Formats: sequence, C-alpha cells, structure tokens
Amino acid sequence: MNYTTQMDAARKGILTREMEITAKKEGMKPEELMELVAEGKAVIPANKHHVCLEPNAIGSMLKTKINVNLGTSRDLNDMDLELKKVEDAVLMGAESIMDLSSFGDTRKFRKRLTSQCPAMIGTVPIYDAVVYYHKPLKEITSEEWIQIVEMHALDGVDFMTIHVGINKQTAHRFKEAKRLTNIVSRGGSIIFAWMEMTGNENPFYEHFDRILEICREHDVTLSLGDACRPGCIADASDISQIEELVTLGELTRRAWEKDVQVIIEGPGHMPLDQIAANMKIQQTICKGAPFYVLGPLVTDIAPGYDHITAAIGGAIAAAAGASFLCYVTPAEHLRLPDADDVKEGIISARIAAHAADLAKGIKGAKDWDYQMSDARKRLDWEAMFNLAIDPEKARRYRASSKPEKEDTCSMCGNFCAMKNMNRILDGEIVNIYDE
Ligand code: SF4
Repeated sequence: MNYTTQMDAARKGILTREMEITAKKEGMKPEELMELVAEGKAVIPANKHHVCLEPNAIGSMLKTKINVNLGTSRDLNDMDLELKKVEDAVLMGAESIMDLSSFGDTRKFRKRLTSQCPAMIGTVPIYDAVVYYHKPLKEITSEEWIQIVEMHALDGVDFMTIHVGINKQTAHRFKEAKRLTNIVSRGGSIIFAWMEMTGNENPFYEHFDRILEICREHDVTLSLGDACRPGCIADASDISQIEELVTLGELTRRAWEKDVQVIIEGPGHMPLDQIAANMKIQQTICKGAPFYVLGPLVTDIAPGYDHITAAIGGAIAAAAGASFLCYVTPAEHLRLPDADDVKEGIISARIAAHAADLAKGIKGAKDWDYQMSDARKRLDWEAMFNLAIDPEKARRYRASSKPEKEDTCSMCGNFCAMKNMNRILDGEIVNIYDE
C-alpha cells in the first residue's frame, strides 16, 4: 500500500477500494469522489484495522448519513444487549455506530464492534480514559490521554471525537461570557474539568501533532468535537460556540496538511431561524469539511419527543449543508435508550436525512417518493408497506383498524379520494352514500 490515508491516496491520484465502493453507492464516478476526498470536502472513515467495514463516504454533496450512539453505562452494563441494538441499528439503515460505552470492559466491546460490525465505528476516547485508568480524573496525565487515542486507533475505530477546540483561550472566554447551561458535551465537560483542576492546557490541543501522527498511521478520521455546543436555545450561536469553531477551522487546516481526514461536530440546541446560517459559517470557517450535527434540537421543551425536535433541526441543517446527522431518541435527556427508543430515533433521523436529500436533489432520492405515491394512487397496500421507511409499523397500523372496503382505509372509507378519482376518471359512476 503506497499511501497512508484515504486523503493521501486521493491526493496522489490513487483510486482505493473504498473510493470505488462508496462512489458506486452514491451513483457517481470514482474520480469525482476522489477529488472531493483530496480537498477534504468528503471523507471515507476507514481504519485499516476495521477489516469487516462496508465503507461509506460523508460529504454535503452526498447522501446524508446517520449515526447511532450506543454503548454500556454504569446503570445498564449488558454487552450482548448493546450488540443486539447495534445489529438492529445497522439493519434499520444506520451507516455509523458511535460506541459511547462508559462502564465495564470497554475495550472488549469495542473490539467486538470492529471485528463484527460493517458500519463505521466512532468513539470518544475521553470517556474511555476515565473508565480505563480507573483513577480520579485529575490524576490522568497528558500522556495517558494521548495513549487512549492510540489504543482506539489500534482497535480499528474509524473516527474519533476529540474535544480539542476547548483550549485555555476558549475556556477563558466561556467563563467570562457565561451561559445558561454551561458545557453540555460529556467529553467537553470532562476535559474542561481536567484543565481547571490541573491548570494545564487541553492535552489534545497541546499535542495535536501527535494525534495527527496516530490518525495518519491508522487512517482514523478526526471528528473535531464541539465542547461548547449550545445545550439550550438561549446559548445558541454565542461567543463560546463561535470561538471554538474558529479554533476547529485552524485545526482542520493542520490536519489536512498531514493528510488526515476531518469532520466537524456542531450544535446542539438551536432555534430554527439560526440553523442555515450556522451551516454556512461552518462551511466557510472549516473550508467545506463535512459537518456532523447533533440534532440540532429546535426547542428545549419536549423531553420524550426530542427525536422530533432533532429531526426538524436535522432536516434543515442537512438541506443547508450538514452531511452527517447524529440520531436523537425519545429518551434524550431522560434515560439510556431501550430498543424501541433506538428504533424511533433511527427512523426519525432517516426521515430528516431523506427530506434533506430531496431538497438537495441527491441522485435517486426522489425516486423512492415517486414509487410510494404511485403505490398510493393504485391503492396497492402491499407495495406501500414494502416501500415504507418502517414497513412493520405501516403494516401494524393498517391491520389494527380494518376498513369495510378492502381497497380503502378506515380514514375515509367510501369517501376515499384516491379510489373515487380513479373510478370517475375511468368513466365509472361514483355514488358514495349507498356503496
Ligand atoms: S381512505 Fe382516505 S386516507 Fe385512506 S387511502 Fe383513501 S384517501 Fe387515503
């Protein structure tokens, strides 16, 4: 192999197996994708050690991808249950799984993922350091933080979220400016606490060149984490968020100089009218590096329904340039999601992604809708079920309320506009009341 990363290969004009596979999935020429990867506008997260990976490319001009967060926690430490959720998530269309495990034998779980799961695997090494070293946060050394990154790279992780943008300067600005909900990023809050307690610079920022060496060696895509993502509507687009984004823009340039692929993490909670502008600012500052958004949740008042608040924001964000949506489940802010929550979250994120792909004119996106509408017009229920984003739910709903006439549904019965229009245009008499 005479290249290091996918970006290095693209810049040398080498067409990799991953480029060929992903270009085919996107319905584009491999050379076109290669150019985007060379420029950093698309990434193919593909760690050399993740041998069972079925790769996907991420970029604003490509089909919008979705990520599903899973993993063990102190309150629910069942590895097999989490692996079953991973399997189901992939079957339901998730292109990426982020392992956010924060309890138990996290390395064993991570290795099982990268040896069995065909989706891209992402992690947040900051969480894992706290579990792995088994000692108070303050006692973790700068070197140990970096070693965890190396361990994840060796374990085959395709992309890593590293909260590198919150350096001393950003932390100072954050404290001066004040916020309603402070730092809500889990990794961001951990590294901020460590910086406060030790008085040291963020180790990932201070030793960014070492991080880049590790990523380059194993071809890990850097997901530059947003410690200061707004955690409520009141904090959206504030000084801390934008200050950190500027730092992420500078770090993107440094990563690209070493041929390391980069995605940028984004908000968070954000009112609807600010989302499109935020996508444009990110694209300008980070020179078109793919944007990975966590929501954004367009209101704070809907615990239990945050898969909906996030899907509204996600659709707007992706239509305006975001490339990658992190799913949000109805359990957000309330508990670890169960299998039903995971399903609701995935379907909601996929709807948001597809709605954005329609708006962006992504190749093939509208064909799916056309086929569904055609099946609706023909009142072909079996075809509708098969085309539905959630066939099981569509089938269950229809079965739960049988219509008197098989070719209608219990919503309008004899008043079925679809049926009556078909009939009248075919020259039939439409009586409705006595049929
Ligand atoms: S009965 Fe009404 S809702 Fe049901 S298929 Fe016909 S037009 Fe649509």
